[in-house]
Amino acid sequence: HQVEQNGVRVMDTQCPFCSVQCKMQIIEERGAGESRPSYQVIPKPNAASEGRLCIKGMNAYQHVLTGERIEYPLLKKDGRFERVSWEEAYEAIVRRFTQLRSLYGQHSIGLYGGGSLTNESAYLLGKFARVGLRTKYIDYNGRFCMSAAASAGVKVFGMDRGLTNPLSDIERADCIILAGTNIAECQPTLMPYFTRAKEKGAFLIAIDPRETGTTRMADLHLRVRPGMDATLANGMLKVLLEEGLTDEAFIQNRTEGFAELKEHLDSLELAEIAELSGVPEGLIRKAAFAYGKASTGMIFTARGVEQQTDGHMAVRNFLNLILLTGKIGRPGCGYGAVTGQGNGQGGREHGQKADQLPGYRLIENPEDRAYVAGVWGIDPAELPGKGVSAYEMMQKVHEQEIRALFVMGSNPIVSNPNANFVEEGLKKLDFLVIADFLMSETAQLADLILPATAYLENTGTMTNLEGRVLLREASRPASGEAKHDWQILCDLASRLDRAAFFPFADAEEIFEELRLASRGGTADYYGITYDRLRQEEGVYWPCPEPGHPGAERLFEESFPLASRKAYLTPVENHLPKELISPDYPLFLTTGRVLTQYLTGVQTRRSPALAARDVESFVEIHPSTARKYRLEEGTLVAVASRRGEIYVRCRFSSDIREDTVFVPMHWGDTQNVNKITLDALDPTCRMPGFKVCAVHVTPFLLN
Ligand code: SF4
Repeated sequence: HQVEQNGVRVMDTQCPFCSVQCKMQIIEERGAGESRPSYQVIPKPNAASEGRLCIKGMNAYQHVLTGERIEYPLLKKDGRFERVSWEEAYEAIVRRFTQLRSLYGQHSIGLYGGGSLTNESAYLLGKFARVGLRTKYIDYNGRFCMSAAASAGVKVFGMDRGLTNPLSDIERADCIILAGTNIAECQPTLMPYFTRAKEKGAFLIAIDPRETGTTRMADLHLRVRPGMDATLANGMLKVLLEEGLTDEAFIQNRTEGFAELKEHLDSLELAEIAELSGVPEGLIRKAAFAYGKASTGMIFTARGVEQQTDGHMAVRNFLNLILLTGKIGRPGCGYGAVTGQGNGQGGREHGQKADQLPGYRLIENPEDRAYVAGVWGIDPAELPGKGVSAYEMMQKVHEQEIRALFVMGSNPIVSNPNANFVEEGLKKLDFLVIADFLMSETAQLADLILPATAYLENTGTMTNLEGRVLLREASRPASGEAKHDWQILCDLASRLDRAAFFPFADAEEIFEELRLASRGGTADYYGITYDRLRQEEGVYWPCPEPGHPGAERLFEESFPLASRKAYLTPVENHLPKELISPDYPLFLTTGRVLTQYLTGVQTRRSPALAARDVESFVEIHPSTARKYRLEEGTLVAVASRRGEIYVRCRFSSDIREDTVFVPMHWGDTQNVNKITLDALDPTCRMPGFKVCAVHVTPFLLN
């Protein structure tokens, strides 16, 4: 995956950013007498991206190759980072962790991972927590990405895989609902799947409080009030039922719970749903008829529906739509949770979550514990129990129950809600260690920073949004003294006298153990090998045996639940946890922009991407702006009950008059999560990022 000749290096790789995992070739050329190399990026076809790259992918080499990398371990002494050797860095970690564990117990150390880590690193981080440190406190930033859809999929279908169908099924759908997903900016290379579906006659419905590149493609845009997606789905369900647009045979043969759902829907009033959701009754009917009458259809949800304090139930209500109409388990019929992070799918399957072990096994299930303990060669009684979710870990940090935190590939100070609270907590830590390849806002607070390799330098598997496992091989040497994430974990384990459990010489050896640990679990990778991935265009899980082709389309005959049937569930018309008031009269919703990824640590360092979006902004309707005496392009303060940020005002009639939008990619005084709501969904512990109450005022310097 790397060819080097006459000053030209050719690197075959995948874009590190979103869950499509587009394939590309980067050519680095250093001309005679030139101090800096030049780069050329060539999109390469793979099954998901079909040879496309978006602007992020085209520039994904810049943040890795053009300086600003953390190249050596850095230890903070007297408030300043100083270069130290790896041995000094490891010695500091072992000394501090050992002290804290003897003073406060084994659970005084927490680990915090990320959805951009390879499967191998995510797997090993989970094992390192449970076997290396024997702490129950581990979770990761994917809690903020997929937890609502994941928990809903498990409850309703018995399995959580982002897409139940291959992407190629999209153009076989006659009606497509895109709920709270802005594919045009978040996964741009998927757009042709939808435009092709439209060319073949599909009717597209978009649900979003804002008009975006995605909603502009739709035939019908339902401009829902933030936080009212579940209620809107109730309206559509009611119409389907009343108009006889349901699939009786499917309901009878393949679902449970219909009577309770019907009773619940009978008790609701469509007029009230229209009032609550902000979507007129006629449009709710139109959407329900389009989806109900179509012979095939797919529904996609993303963070707009999921990042709610009722995100779990909101997703379940969209799954109710699928089940009532029997639109699953056939070509062109299915569900997709559109994963945001590069390895948002695989990152959640192998034990980074507080409640899970590899293969989606449950840490509280005795059989699951016994199986994984057997693979790891430990007594099941040694395995710690269930910890807490990502934001709850930050609360434990604040309460000083967690005294040291090890963060790998994540920037929690910007990605957690109520970020001022999170920052205060992190400052109380006795020891904060960050493993990353670029300096982040969280790394600035660290006591110790460990330089990690970037995507061009390490080998590992990534699982895309379809559940297709892809191998990305290293295409250049490590920068400076950087080490792979898994190497860091193995080195630390050996210094903690746990070397016997971490004997890995490369990523493939870790994958071999992951295969075994996932065997028989829901996310079963046993039939997948590196050799196979080198020969095939990725392999779908579950893949239980080496000769198995991988499951491209799920639930064709049954659901993996005891009854083999899926669950229909009544869902209440929940209101958001924080409502607007005279003091905070506007809803705030958050999201992404085309050029940026997650907290922007990588994309803000890419000159080409940063030049397109140099700073954050607040999008506000011109009528609303006039009401609050705001001028376009000026700095404004956006304040909630938790804090205040300062961003430039951007007028747009694309947004509802009662709502403002701020993107999530900037830190410090532009960090929108300083003001977002930290109330959590009761089931999946997803914070309510997508709606809180704010006021916007001109920013006046004293
Ligand atoms: Fe592809 Fe996503 Fe990268 Fe864009 S950001 S090139 S869509 S993987």
